[in-house]
Amino acid sequence: MTQVRQLTPRRRRVVLHTDTPEDARTGPDADTDAYVRLLLAPGNVTYPEPFDLDRVKAALPGEAWPRMRSYTIRHHHPRTAEITLDFALHDRDGLATTWVRRVRPGDTVPYLQPRGTYRPAAHAAHHLLVGDDTSLSAVAAAAERLPSGARATVLLEVDSAHEEQPVDAPAKTDIIWLHRGTHRAGTLLADAVRHLHLPTQGLHAFVHGETHAVREIRGHLLHDRGVPRDRISASGYWRHTPHP
Ligand SMILES: Cc1cc2nc3c(=O)[nH]c(=O)nc-3n(C[C@H](O)[C@H](O)[C@H](O)COP(=O)(O)OP(=O)(O)OC[C@H]3O[C@@H](n4cnc5c(N)ncnc54)[C@H](O)[C@@H]3O)c2cc1C
Repeated sequence: MTQVRQLTPRRRRVVLHTDTPEDARTGPDADTDAYVRLLLAPGNVTYPEPFDLDRVKAALPGEAWPRMRSYTIRHHHPRTAEITLDFALHDRDGLATTWVRRVRPGDTVPYLQPRGTYRPAAHAAHHLLVGDDTSLSAVAAAAERLPSGARATVLLEVDSAHEEQPVDAPAKTDIIWLHRGTHRAGTLLADAVRHLHLPTQGLHAFVHGETHAVREIRGHLLHDRGVPRDRISASGYWRHTPHP
């Protein structure tokens, strides 16, 4: 870890130096939603350095094995072999959220190599990019990779106006921020998508975030708007569960 910075009240950024310099490379053909899976120790478990997943698994019982949490690469820094990850801080006692609140420059964290599945289609007539605090990095990266003349609508739901982030999208991109306040996560997004004026012909959609909202929006695009299945990239990044 080379830097840790509080970006907003509910967003914390870490910059990781990587021993695998290709993880920090990017280019026009790279996936815009590339993410790493951090391997975090549960409870008070510590692992011997250098970390070796196979050895850890062979030596320790399953309860002590690392837990995986996925985080999107917001920025690649090939020159310094670093990657930037942004963490949405939520109120539940999550392993990753607790870890990132405590982490300090100089700390290390193992992760599994980046993977991703999306890059905006160059020929789309209109892009719809929809996300929340957890998929902000992926949505922003996709928006920033759009061809200069592309038409796009970006819908992002965050806690409040304090959580908005700069997105360097091309001129014909409409960026709409929704402030969740006391609404259940994803409900504003699902409602807003229903009311958007969008072309159906040539529409490509990227919808990632809270699982129930993603499912609802995907269903709406497929069944109410007739967007072909292969033009929709949709996945749940986390699942809202009611407070006990
Ligand atoms: C491909 C992919 C990429 C992702 N990229 C990012 C990213 O760049 N930044 C980011 O912040 N997240 C990202 N996420 C989401 C992140 O992995 C989850 O939010 C994860 O559950 C957080 O782990 P945790 O240990 O803090 O909480 P967990 O231990 O997983 O969960 C503990 C409790 O917290 C709740 N919870 C989890 N996440 C949230 C949340 N965001 N808001 C409210 N309650 C929550 C759970 O429902 C559960 O009740 C990504 C997920 C995927 C699948």
